Amino acid sequence: MTVQPSDSDESSVRLAERTWTEIERELEDGTRTAVVAVGSVEQHGPHLPVVMDALTGDELAERIADELGDALAAPTIRPGCSGHHMEFPGTITIPPETLMDLIRGYCRSLDEHGFEHVVLVPTHGGNFAPVNTVAPELGRELDANVVALADLPELMELQNEGLRDAGVEYEQPVVHAGAVETAIVLAVAEELVRTDELEAGHEGEISTARLLSEGFASITENGVLGDPREGTAEAGEAILERIANAYVERIERERAAV
Ligand SMILES: [Zn+2]
Repeated sequence: MTVQPSDSDESSVRLAERTWTEIERELEDGTRTAVVAVGSVEQHGPHLPVVMDALTGDELAERIADELGDALAAPTIRPGCSGHHMEFPGTITIPPETLMDLIRGYCRSLDEHGFEHVVLVPTHGGNFAPVNTVAPELGRELDANVVALADLPELMELQNEGLRDAGVEYEQPVVHAGAVETAIVLAVAEELVRTDELEAGHEGEISTARLLSEGFASITENGVLGDPREGTAEAGEAILERIANAYVERIERERAAV
């Protein structure tokens, strides 16, 4: 049997599955961007696994790296800043300073080995502020261009555009462990959705300030905001596609501008 390692190399963009010699060769051959997703390990209702946001991060980073063509997806940072979910077992939270230190470690390491661009992709709301704080500081410190794709309203708008692409309209699409997040897991790891546990959580107006200060348990008993029952794999695929395409465009603009 003939083994063709080059084929299997191309089929994956995961940095962690490469050997150092392969990574060295790829850097010499023009790979210049590393994509780092910043996820979380936190409760996502009775129907989604706590790894939800990290799973979305893996998927997005790989789609983006694959689409760019000269990029690798670094191992997703998990966990993140999830203090407001701590009433729910299984949530693992780290302080913002620890997360920023992790990001510093990632970026400094990737920079040292010659990646010219490091793209940070937070997939959990609580990580956006730490990412936006540390990215400009690293950009000044390192040779590498550090790009933070950390605009929460923009991400929500992209999710809505994805839903429109799929021809669906959710009453409350962009909420925690609701239809959008359920749709995403149905698209990437269907077997992880407890379809017999789908139940609506808190619906209606939400005070973000209260969510953050008093925690999710003060508003929702099952950890869900919105109604996950409307989520479909088709919608999840359309959402991921929208976000990945928009992020790739943005990265290409950033890379051209350096
Ligand atoms: Zn989430």
